[in-house]
Amino acid sequence: MSTDAVAGLDEIRPALTDLYKDLHAHPELSFAEHRTAGVIAERLTGLGLEVTTGVGRTGVVGALRNGAGPMVLLRADFDALPVTERTGLPYASETDGVMHACGHDMHVTCLLGALDLLNGARDSWSGTVLAVFQPAEEIGAGARAMVDDGLYDRFGRPDVVLGQHVGPFPAGWLGAHAGPAFAATDALDVRMYGRGGHGSRPETTIDPVVMAAATVMRLQTVVSREVSGNDTAVVTVGAIQAGTKDNIIPDEAELKINIRTFTEAVRGKVLAAVERVIKAEAAASGAPRGPEIGTEYTFPVVTNDPAATERTMAAFRDRFGADHVIDPGPATGSEDVGHFATSAGVPICYWLFGGCDPETFLTALKNDRVEQDVPSNHSPGFAPVIEPTVTAGVTAMVTAALTWLGPAAG
Ligand code: ZN
Ligand code: ZN
Repeated sequence: MSTDAVAGLDEIRPALTDLYKDLHAHPELSFAEHRTAGVIAERLTGLGLEVTTGVGRTGVVGALRNGAGPMVLLRADFDALPVTERTGLPYASETDGVMHACGHDMHVTCLLGALDLLNGARDSWSGTVLAVFQPAEEIGAGARAMVDDGLYDRFGRPDVVLGQHVGPFPAGWLGAHAGPAFAATDALDVRMYGRGGHGSRPETTIDPVVMAAATVMRLQTVVSREVSGNDTAVVTVGAIQAGTKDNIIPDEAELKINIRTFTEAVRGKVLAAVERVIKAEAAASGAPRGPEIGTEYTFPVVTNDPAATERTMAAFRDRFGADHVIDPGPATGSEDVGHFATSAGVPICYWLFGGCDPETFLTALKNDRVEQDVPSNHSPGFAPVIEPTVTAGVTAMVTAALTWLGPAAG
C-alpha cells in the first residue's frame, strides 16, 4: 500500500472544511438533493472524473479509471432529515426544518477528499474507483433506485463495496462488525376500522381507539414472548392517530410501526406475529372490516463480509493504530448500503468513523454522561467536529480503497 497517498491531505484540508460547511448549511431531503448533487458533480468534473448525474433520480456517479485491475465501489449518501437544527453553529442549516442530522454531508466531504487524493496518487495503484453518491438513504430508497437505474450495466460490476458512516464517538476511531452489522427495518402503516358514533352511546359503535390501544399493548409481547433471548428484535409503535374530539367515537385508527431484526428467520417470525396480533385484535373488537397493513419502507440487513471486513480493518489498524480500531457489535440502526453488495453479489465492508471531539468525548465518558453530552445521529444537536473528523474519514476511505485496488502498473 502506498503510504504517501494521504500526504496531499494537508493541502486540500482548508477546501474540504469550506465544502463541509457549505453542504451542512444547505441540507436537502431525500430525492430532493438537487443542489447537493450539483455541487458533487461540479467537484468530480473539476477532478477530471467521468461524471454521470441523475442516476436513480438524484444520484451521481464518478468513475476514476486507471488501467486494468479491480473495480472498487466507494459509496457516500447525501440526503438530510426533517429536523430543525439546534446546534448553534455558524454554518447551521439555512433551511427551516431540514438538517444534516445524520452526517451525510461529512460522508460526501470525505469521499470527495479521498477521490482527490486517489486521483493525485494514480501512479501508486491500478483499476477503477467507482464513486457512488447516493440519494435518499433515510427513506431506504436511494440504493435501490440507483441499482434499478442500471448502475452496474452502465458502469460495470465492482469487486467490493466500501462505505462509511460517521457516529458519536471520538474522531480518529474506527469500527466495523463482521456479519450482520446493521439491522433490517420494516416500517408498517396500519389502518384499523371501527364504526363511529356518539361518545355517549358506545353500544352503537365499534371503538377503534380501544382496538388500537389493545393492539399496541399486545404488540409489546411479540419480542418479549415470541423471540428467543438469543436473538435481537425491536418493535416500536412510533405513532398512533385516531379521533378529533372527546364525545365522538371515530371510524378508524392508524398505527405506524417500526421493526428491527438481524436475520431473515427472525424478521419473518416477527412480521408474521405483528400481522397476526393486528388482525386478531381487530377481530376481537368485532371490526366491520379487516385492518389494512401497508409497508411504508424497508431496509435489508447490512451483512459485512467477514473476510472483506478483516482485510479492511487490518489496513486500518496499520494506519490508525490497533487501539483505535474496534468491533462495536451489531447496531440496531439501518442502512440501505447493503443493497449495492447483494445486488452485485459481491462482499461489502461498511464501517463507522468517529465524529466527536476526542477531549469532549473523554470528559463525558469520565463523568458517565456520554448519552446526555454527546448528541447522536438524528438529534437536532448532532454536530460532528470538522477536524479531525474529515482527516480521519478521508484517510480511512483512501486506505480502504488502496487495500482493494491493484498495485501500481508495471
Ligand atoms: Zn445516515
Ligand atoms: Zn440517518
